[in-house]
Amino acid sequence: MTMFTRSTPRLLSLSRQLFRLRGPSPIPKRFLGIPSAFLLDEYIPRYQLLTSVDAAKKRSLAYAHLRECNLCPRQCGVNRYETTGMCLIGAESAKVNVIAPHRGEEPCIQGYHGSGSVFFSGCSLRCVFCQNHDIAHQRNGFDLTPEELAEWYVKLQQIGKVHNINLVTPEHVVPQVALSILTARDMGLRLPILYNTSSFDSLDSLRLLDGLVDIYLPDFKVWRSSTSKRLLKADDYTSTAMESIKEMHRQVGDLSFTSDGIAKKGVLLRHLVMPGKEDEGREIMRWLAENVSRDLYVHIMEQYHPDAHVGKKRRVTRKVRFGESDSTSPPEEVRYAEINRAVRDEELGSVRDAAATAGLWRFCEVNEQSAFHL
Ligand code: SF4
Repeated sequence: MTMFTRSTPRLLSLSRQLFRLRGPSPIPKRFLGIPSAFLLDEYIPRYQLLTSVDAAKKRSLAYAHLRECNLCPRQCGVNRYETTGMCLIGAESAKVNVIAPHRGEEPCIQGYHGSGSVFFSGCSLRCVFCQNHDIAHQRNGFDLTPEELAEWYVKLQQIGKVHNINLVTPEHVVPQVALSILTARDMGLRLPILYNTSSFDSLDSLRLLDGLVDIYLPDFKVWRSSTSKRLLKADDYTSTAMESIKEMHRQVGDLSFTSDGIAKKGVLLRHLVMPGKEDEGREIMRWLAENVSRDLYVHIMEQYHPDAHVGKKRRVTRKVRFGESDSTSPPEEVRYAEINRAVRDEELGSVRDAAATAGLWRFCEVNEQSAFHL
């Protein structure tokens, strides 16, 4: 594949990285204490089980959605072959920032050889604290057609020897993603597909993905509408996330593993604890236990740090702040000051306690020997 973009070095670097990964050591077998209810003898990806008729129906549906896109809750209703909606991504291709084997995921996802991650540029949310804002908000990267994406999935499988294909922030390019998976299946892809999402998905979008995705990795970010309106720039986030996560769980169930400790199918729910928002985290845990599953596999994350717009200085005139009209030297204020700090241990602990009290028990942790905790 020949590309002449400013980002070409990143793909070339990927090729070098992939070639260095030739011939990895065999996956060690060890006892991981996986409960039998979540242990799989073997696993065939769901997209390999689709009939040719079902695959053809999915292709037609993907093209139909691109001609009138209501695929995320922004519901732009535009023909993406002629114009773009709020996500600013058209129909022919998806914009991709990085493709690489990635070792920054949960142990059961990254495994021994890494997760084959595809970071899509752009996003249908506008989180003011986005921890990937250079990718999600700035739309840097390469335009790749579904066929080119499929070629990269197969390269990640054959050369990178990764455990899965991990589609990161794909909500706004679901038709292109669906077409790429169907193409890759015909090219010999046999790795599980991960859909790594903010949960700001529509049910139509998730139905298109039903039968194509093996593992859903949804975030459940915040609970109150006032918080989602201020920090995610979406006032309908929570109700959308609730519907989406229930549909994901309906499709693939609780997270299950093969005996090597690698996740193959199910939902892995993530919640990033936010400073001063631990009460929202507690509500989310209670809701998940009561409405999705007490066997849901949950990762309560502590790595929040101020990023993107948070903590940036903002000038506010004395006239605005104090009703004065003759200001000549406006004071400075910090934007989103309420989340301009790290999360405290007691905030994290209170969300974890609430999760356990609600009956959740499958948490993502790495034990002292860095082995899997399943
Ligand atoms: S995916 Fe893009 S075009 Fe489609 S509804 Fe969402 S923001 Fe609008």
